[in-house]
Amino acid sequence: MTHVFPRHTKANPPVAAYGDGCYIVDTNGKRYFDGSGGAAVSCLGHSDPEVTAAIKAQVEKIAFAHTGFFTSEPAEELADLLIERAPPGLDRVYFVSGGSEAMEAALKLARQYFLEKGETSRHRVIARRQSYHGNTLGALATGGNQWRREPFSPLMIETSHIAPCYEYRGRLAGETAFEYGQRVADELETEIQRLGSENVMAFVAEPVVGATAGAVPPVEGYFKRIREICDNHGILLILDEVMCGMGRTGTLYACEQDGVTADILCIAKGLGAGYQPIGAMLCSAVIYEAVEQGSGFFQHGHTYIGHPTACAAALAVLRKLTGGLVDRVNPLGDALHAALTDAFGQHPNVGDIRGRGLFRAIEIVEDRAAKTPFDPKRGINKALKKAAFDEGLACYPMGGTIDGVHGDHVLLAPPFIMSEDQIG
Ligand code: PLP
Repeated sequence: MTHVFPRHTKANPPVAAYGDGCYIVDTNGKRYFDGSGGAAVSCLGHSDPEVTAAIKAQVEKIAFAHTGFFTSEPAEELADLLIERAPPGLDRVYFVSGGSEAMEAALKLARQYFLEKGETSRHRVIARRQSYHGNTLGALATGGNQWRREPFSPLMIETSHIAPCYEYRGRLAGETAFEYGQRVADELETEIQRLGSENVMAFVAEPVVGATAGAVPPVEGYFKRIREICDNHGILLILDEVMCGMGRTGTLYACEQDGVTADILCIAKGLGAGYQPIGAMLCSAVIYEAVEQGSGFFQHGHTYIGHPTACAAALAVLRKLTGGLVDRVNPLGDALHAALTDAFGQHPNVGDIRGRGLFRAIEIVEDRAAKTPFDPKRGINKALKKAAFDEGLACYPMGGTIDGVHGDHVLLAPPFIMSEDQIG
């Protein structure tokens, strides 16, 4: 008998007893290799002594001090290090407790920025059909995941969704990858024209798409064109790196690889690496100054913003990431990709193997040549999750429907501390 309200009410999960590097051990002693880091969270694995010591030291000094009264040393140092390593233009960090909160803060800051500037009609958001940006109402409205949105649609702000940049499914015969990227990026231009740019405040996208389609990187030139369109219309670019950020794709910030920067950028999962719940919204000096020189008050906040213990944990994580750990991600990711290709590259039910760094996915199809997906009713992704879990591998299979086409994929996001042998 339990009094916990689980998300999946019919599931009966094992009890996690302790962590051991890349493994989670349950109360029966069974070991699970954490192949997806939960949902791309546990970049340091599960028993990091330095992060544990940093948390203990902070709790012994002071666990919590409300930001309405105080700032804290770990919050100040963490913000400095995040900005020192961030793409150009980002200047301020607003700490929250997770990814949805970071996205919620980003949307409200975008709106407030335009209010401070007197551009009061700018309130619309454009995002992509292939996207997940969180489960709170603002973030949910931004995401393109229909089954998550549907029950709550009367409660949500209006958002337009344009095509994703999903080469495996979207590129036409005879079109180069570059041409495809420009074509789908130009849908943003068309949508802005339709809405009137004076009504649009932001475009939101994940640099590398995570859960909704499985580690889908953009094609070359796509984000440069997106940036150009946003700039031409005075629209903010909000990049959601909640899942793909913090070194997961091989660079600390995923957007570095596409040569673009954001006006607002959100991070979360790998920031605390699961040791503490923490997320952050980074914004440009221009946006910050509009608030500072305007009302002087960001009209948004939660009790636990800038939580000192969470910041201390994240600071210890970030020191490890920037102290050499992120350098392991690309070589290990290349080895993982090669191993997946060797093992499954010719499998009749494997349509695509893709990703960047230690953020990889396999798309599962019924017919490889025709790219025909399995009927969603067959629940292939659930069956895969169970089969792998029974074998002692935790991975993250998802099914999603984009533009009427269902897709099953398995997302892999293992800890950066894994050895090359563990890839097997
Ligand atoms: N944005 C992206 C891209 C995500 O993948 C997620 C979570 O999976 C979120 C936002 C929401 O983060 P959280 O679950 O920490 O609220």
